[in-house]
Amino acid sequence: MGDERDFRFEGGRPSVDFTATVGKRHRDGGFERLIDPAALGRWCTVAGLAATAPRVTPADLGRARLLREAVYRLMTARLSRSGRPATADIDVVNAWATKPPPALELRLTADGLHARPSHVTMPALLALIARDAVEVIGGADGARLRECDNPECSLLFIDTSRAGARRWCSMRTCGARDKMARYRGGH
Ligand SMILES: [Zn+2]
Repeated sequence: MGDERDFRFEGGRPSVDFTATVGKRHRDGGFERLIDPAALGRWCTVAGLAATAPRVTPADLGRARLLREAVYRLMTARLSRSGRPATADIDVVNAWATKPPPALELRLTADGLHARPSHVTMPALLALIARDAVEVIGGADGARLRECDNPECSLLFIDTSRAGARRWCSMRTCGARDKMARYRGGH
């Protein structure tokens, strides 16, 4: 099942997956998966946002965590419908969302012209994540934001199932655990 510290990508969108870089948030505030600047660079490549890890400074990591927590609070306010979003969080997300994301440029290769991202810096990637968060929170996907039903888990995801009744971040982890618990309980 992998290490608890492994990155999780069950969210369906980069901004949702970015909030999953803190695990088990309901237990003493959770644990940090972006333990150092290199971990943030690695997350960007595993998430498919960059072909190679961008240069990440400790200041970049600090800014990334601030953006991530603002996104997380706005997403949970959106899904609970009762929580009032904080203006400070909206300001943080908007400030990044208006910065330029990585540009696309044409590259001529042996089999023709291809669009490739260029100027993939950490600030540009944070802008990309913030724009994605704006689309998710303020768009149609916002109504399909869910939190995993496992009270220990806290991962967010976008429920793309037709019935809109997905309960678990993943059937391999929390879904399987629930199935096992019900089996042991004789149900
Ligand atoms: Zn879960």
